[in-house]
Amino acid sequence: MYASVDNLRDSIIDINDFIHDHPELGNNEFQAVELLTRTLSDHHFHVEQGVADLPTAFIATYTHNGGGPRIGLLCEYDALPGLGHGCGHNLQASSIVGAAIALSQNLGDLPATILVYGTPAEETTSGKLPMIRAGLFDDLDVALMMHGGDRTTVDGKSLAMNLIDFVFEGKAAHAAVAPEKGISALDGILMTFNAIEYLREHVRPDVKMHGVITNGGVAANIVPDLAVAQFYVRAADRPYLDTVLERVYNAARGAALSTGSKLTINQVKKCENKVNVDKLNQLLLKNAEEAGIKEISPPRSSTGSTDFGNVTYLVPGACLRVAFVPFGTSSHSTEWVEAGISEAGHNAVISAAKSIAGTAYDLIENPSLLQEVKEEFHNAKEAFLKNL
Ligand SMILES: [Zn+2]
Ligand SMILES: [Zn+2]
Repeated sequence: MYASVDNLRDSIIDINDFIHDHPELGNNEFQAVELLTRTLSDHHFHVEQGVADLPTAFIATYTHNGGGPRIGLLCEYDALPGLGHGCGHNLQASSIVGAAIALSQNLGDLPATILVYGTPAEETTSGKLPMIRAGLFDDLDVALMMHGGDRTTVDGKSLAMNLIDFVFEGKAAHAAVAPEKGISALDGILMTFNAIEYLREHVRPDVKMHGVITNGGVAANIVPDLAVAQFYVRAADRPYLDTVLERVYNAARGAALSTGSKLTINQVKKCENKVNVDKLNQLLLKNAEEAGIKEISPPRSSTGSTDFGNVTYLVPGACLRVAFVPFGTSSHSTEWVEAGISEAGHNAVISAAKSIAGTAYDLIENPSLLQEVKEEFHNAKEAFLKNL
């Protein structure tokens, strides 16, 4: 398996560097998808592009010896506006495609189906969500991902999250001549921010509420008739998050009432907290060690949110983080962009490909291990749902 990854090294690194040097925003990752699907298709994967009505989503399938366990390998390839590949999704796409091809070459007689999922727009609208709604993950036995990081570890937890737009509509007027005829939509936004600051004191410490004003009016001498704020609201679990969300909405509703403006609350995105399968996490870490990664950290206790969390409600899933920047370096930064094509970045891609391919192989080769993973997943999910 490792020899296959090493043989593929040049093309894996070329994919990594090409995607890095051609950053594309969510739902516009056409060059990345062309390269990834062409590579997979050259290696006998059957490619379907445009799944779930998303032009840059795809599923590439390799069926071996009549089928067998269905292993999903998920990759992202979108970049960040103004920054490029500050989340390292170039590493992810290249290592997952490398892992999938190496795996397909080393199955021997073992029946298996390898499915590479191209999931666009992770940073914005989340391609995985419509792909989930289209039922594309339903038949999987397991879903694996990788992500670059400041340490090699697995995601133990992630936060449930809602991304919301608050749209306030008021009435425009001359701000000096006839302010009494205007209704300031911006006032509604400012009062919402203030109310959320007061709310912050009275929620659990795992709650994160952070917002920006995306439209605060056009000129200081016009009473703003339209203002928009975007907020992320997160918590460790969905039931508690839903109670916090209602209080956040009430903060905005109160602001609309007191300013006389009209409020619309738009849901942009919703992510669930991850259902954790420890056996799968440990299997990924064991394979990372075998692939030669020296320093391995315990699962991360503090994370953001991911649309992969929604996938882990459907099938057992785990994500391997592979170090390629110094410990403590924040993602969404120029340091991450620069490291994406460094030697450390290249090495991370290769060891991640080996780790993911090795993990998938273990699950295919050992049906009782796969069964144990599935049982732990069902128990973890049931325990979670009981608490709803
Ligand atoms: Zn990111
Ligand atoms: Zn990311």
